[in-house]
Amino acid sequence: MIITEEVLKMSSERADGEHPVDLAPHKEKKHRSQFEAESISTLICFCLVSFNTSDMSSDCRFVDLSNSLESVPVLIEQRSSALTFPQFQYSPDNVQGPGCTLDPSEVTLPGCSCLSHSCSSESCSCLQTHGQAYDSTHTLLHRTHSGYCSPVFECNALCSCGDACSNRVVQRGLTLKLEVYSTEKRGWGVRTLKSIPKGTFVCEYAGEVISFEEARRRQLAQRAEDNNYIIAVREHAGEGSVTETFVDPAKVGNVGRFLNHSCQPNLLMQPVRVHSVVPRLA
Ligand SMILES: [Zn+2]
Ligand SMILES: [Zn+2]
Ligand SMILES: [Zn+2]
Repeated sequence: MIITEEVLKMSSERADGEHPVDLAPHKEKKHRSQFEAESISTLICFCLVSFNTSDMSSDCRFVDLSNSLESVPVLIEQRSSALTFPQFQYSPDNVQGPGCTLDPSEVTLPGCSCLSHSCSSESCSCLQTHGQAYDSTHTLLHRTHSGYCSPVFECNALCSCGDACSNRVVQRGLTLKLEVYSTEKRGWGVRTLKSIPKGTFVCEYAGEVISFEEARRRQLAQRAEDNNYIIAVREHAGEGSVTETFVDPAKVGNVGRFLNHSCQPNLLMQPVRVHSVVPRLA
């Protein structure tokens, strides 16, 4: 998820002195009829809330939902009732699910041979082939082609550039402090603990990568009260070539599964390829 507007607006102060601001999407992702594959131009956008706070990670009411799998803790308030705690397996990255013929953790893309600290478009084969997606501060550049987002390819495990290369962003994982919290009427939501500049990578929507058939089977097996977490992304590569990716974070997923949709979204979804041709939904 990439932030689309600066999250600065603070809502009213809570009893504990914090000022929440939320993140949320356009589309009804938790609605059963929303199964149609979406073109990138109409991707789900989510809304994130931010709030001022002291260091909550040292507050014993909060635990790390990621179990230290993320480099920064994903905070969630420890409730007394276990029933209110979300039941799923945390995974920061996509995992291979039923019907997916490719393992998303395998390196399947070629790398560049840049020996510099950070790649530059004059000499880097990655940037020359796919274009520059980020500026030097790791902010996503606004790149649309005929109303569609351009695909993003980051430097990968086979590239010889350093870890600080500006073409490595989503692969670094979470860097922002996020909190998963229970909203009043819309189940779980995600909020940020500080304001985020526009174009900043927030989090992936990671889960099981599954086939179309498996996605359809899972959707048909859902009960009316179940949430539908499956996101379908359709990418057009010209000449009628279409790639579809189905991600389901219901049982295995990351913090992205808790994002709520919104009529005033402040996040957009951008497919990003790092080591594998299987895109990450950033
Ligand atoms: Zn690089
Ligand atoms: Zn390079
Ligand atoms: Zn590279």
